[in-house]
Amino acid sequence: MGWAIALHGGAGDIPLSLPQERRLPREAGLRYCLHIGVEALKANTPTLDVVELVVRELENIPHFNAGKGSVLTTQGTVEMEACIMDGTKRCGAVSGLTTVVNPISLARLVMEKTPHIYLAFDGAEAFARGQGVETVDSSHFITPENVERLKQAKEANRVQIDYTQPLHKDEKKETPEADGDSKLGTVGCVAVDSLGNLASATSTGGLVNKMVGRIGDTPIIGAGTYANSLCAVSATGKGEAIIRGTVARDVAALMEFKGVSLKEAAAYVVEEGTPKGTVGLVAVSATGEVTMPFNTTGMFRACATEDGYSEIGIWPSVHN
Ligand code: ASP
Repeated sequence: MGWAIALHGGAGDIPLSLPQERRLPREAGLRYCLHIGVEALKANTPTLDVVELVVRELENIPHFNAGKGSVLTTQGTVEMEACIMDGTKRCGAVSGLTTVVNPISLARLVMEKTPHIYLAFDGAEAFARGQGVETVDSSHFITPENVERLKQAKEANRVQIDYTQPLHKDEKKETPEADGDSKLGTVGCVAVDSLGNLASATSTGGLVNKMVGRIGDTPIIGAGTYANSLCAVSATGKGEAIIRGTVARDVAALMEFKGVSLKEAAAYVVEEGTPKGTVGLVAVSATGEVTMPFNTTGMFRACATEDGYSEIGIWPSVHN
């Protein structure tokens, strides 16, 4: 038994030809955030603080789709969401944030300062102001790269459908899609200390070209984020598939009800429980196991354990 930490910067159709200028800053971000998390664990920082700290750092890096760098809705706006949970099942979540610099910290405040679990949109923004967390003009989060990604996503769709209006008979109802790179970048971190205390945190801007008001898997307990006394899980990928698959909870449920190991449970959920090309996750167990499976082309990921194992990767290990 020992401490373990794993983080991700999004799973998706990441082409092997991903240009260096997109790969290197993300790898550097993962390395830096892994280092911060490892140092915090070595200093006996509570795991909830560790995952919050790491996700705040990831949110501040514009190359990831969370906080600054969040992808844009179909109207060119940001709507960020985040969730945090510990092994005692305390949890907090937020959605529809437009001005909060670090959504993960607001999720923690929901957990600690309210009788509720999940606040969204105007209520969440008002709560942020009441708590005095750092807020900025929404334009702070909008990067030129994401303006371009939205443009490409709209072009890829060609026929833009206004889902808020009734559909005409000859209009095909399609899910807004985007190029591979646009799906990258939701961030998450799971950690366990040497006493078995677990925590999970996930933060995202969602999917590029999403409808205004769309909520994904990230803030939904048991879908994108979950922790109990056995494991902590943070998922990434297509939110709608992750919600349908109750991905994070299924990993915990297999351990809880079937007694399988973390690795087996996570592999089963990713391979059998969700459509191919839709999901990746990072998870740690109370006994210090770590796993990072995905059924997408790749997943930005990093992990370290107390016994000295460490890994940073994007594609299946054979390509690294
Ligand atoms: N799961 C996120 C969402 O659907 C997106 C991602 O992980 O990249 O909102």
